[in-house]
Order: sequence, then structure tokens, then C-alpha cells
Amino acid sequence: MYFDTHAHYDDARFSDDRYDVLDSLKAKGVDLIVNPGSDLASSKAAADLARKYAGFVYAAAGIHPHEATAATDEALAELERLCRAYPVVAIGEIGLDYHYDFSPREAQKKAFRAQLELARSLGLPAIVHDREAHEDCLGMIGEFRDVRGVFHCYSGSLETARELVKLGWHISFTGSITFKNAKKAPEIVASLPADRIMIETDSPYMAPEPLRGRRNDSSNLYYICRAVAQYRGISHEEAARLTLENGRNFFGL
Ligand SMILES: [Zn+2]
Repeated sequence: MYFDTHAHYDDARFSDDRYDVLDSLKAKGVDLIVNPGSDLASSKAAADLARKYAGFVYAAAGIHPHEATAATDEALAELERLCRAYPVVAIGEIGLDYHYDFSPREAQKKAFRAQLELARSLGLPAIVHDREAHEDCLGMIGEFRDVRGVFHCYSGSLETARELVKLGWHISFTGSITFKNAKKAPEIVASLPADRIMIETDSPYMAPEPLRGRRNDSSNLYYICRAVAQYRGISHEEAARLTLENGRNFFGL
């Protein structure tokens, strides 16, 4: 029924019950999961999970902007080896984060550009993390017209969303669209072309209302799907079907 296009089951917050949680999800309507990496170790962990849960969990590999200073030439070469050795379905998560600025912006841009190059050379889509860096993210993907991708946990404006659609990109929504202060979300979700919308939990982060603040898992896609259905004026089943199909097409599954 549901496709969680972005969840971090390699995260330490799942250390005690990772396999129990994953084993429980199919019965809760979760059909597919993509687990992105945030550095080399977590990309490898994601790839191992994808091997263990073949056909259910898929891995993306990438170095998050928070870790951009670790994206040395050696690390990028290792990332490429990992992508070639495992059935990785996307490069991610990569991008720019000017909210936290955990890595210098120049290092973030360098790592982002190098990994878009990698996506291009491997023919894989990109999963982009953009926090308060909309303009620079758009500029960067504009340099790679032949790479397609998704802006995950979308937090930008309607104008940026339209720009992304024009570039052939997808937009993915988390539990943040269920928050009471999510003023822009209803209009953005409602106005996007039906074939560009995906949903995700970003577990263990971003638990939707009414579970805000708790550890998130993919079963909570129910609340995100419900919000998408409500904003677009379609049934819950239709919203689930649509986002599942879009995810399958996007990742080639
Ligand atoms: Zn994430």
C-alpha cells in the first residue's frame, strides 16, 4: 500500500529493535522502503539492510551536507565502489544545509557537486536535502540537467516547487505537512502534478501529528498519506496508490 521513500533504519535510535520494527511493517501496509545513507558507514549499513530485506528495503548511498568535510577524494572513490558493489538505487542524501552549517558552505557545495557527478556517471537519481539553501540547490541541479532527483522533506516555496517540476524533478513530503504551522504545505501538495509527488517518514525523525516528538517509523506514513489525500481532495487509497506508483517509477522498482 505505502512506499516510504526515505527512512533511516541504520540510525542508532533503531539499535535495540531495528529488525523487529522492519519485520512488523509489512503487516502495517508498508510495501517498500528506501534507506538513504548520510556518510560512508551508514551508506554501507543501508546497503547491508537492503541485502537482508531484498525486495522490501532498498539503499541509497551518499554523504550528507552535515558530513561534507568528510567527502574527500578517497571517500568519494569508496562511495563509488560501494554503489557498484551493491544494488544501490539512488545517490543520497546529498545537498546543502544552511540552517545548521555543520560543514563550511564551500565544502558542502563541493561535496554536492561531486556526488551529482557520481549520480550522472552511474545513471542514478539523486536524493537532495535542502535546508534554507533553496537558491543554491536549484542553481546546483541546474548544472546537471541530465540528472533527475527528488527534494526530500520539502520545505521550500510553491515557486521553487514549480521550478523543480519544470526541471523534471520530484518532490517528497514528510510528517512536516501534518504540523499545525505547515502553512504552505496544503497549497503546494494540491498544486503539484500528480506524477511528481512522493511521501516519506524520514524516520526516526519528523514524526507526524499526532505523534510529534516521538521516534518515527514507516507505519506512520498513514498520517502523511492522509494529509496528501485531504489537501488534494482524493481518497486515502488513491493517495497511497499514486505515491507508491510514483516512487516505483522514480527509483525504477
Ligand atoms: Zn534523511
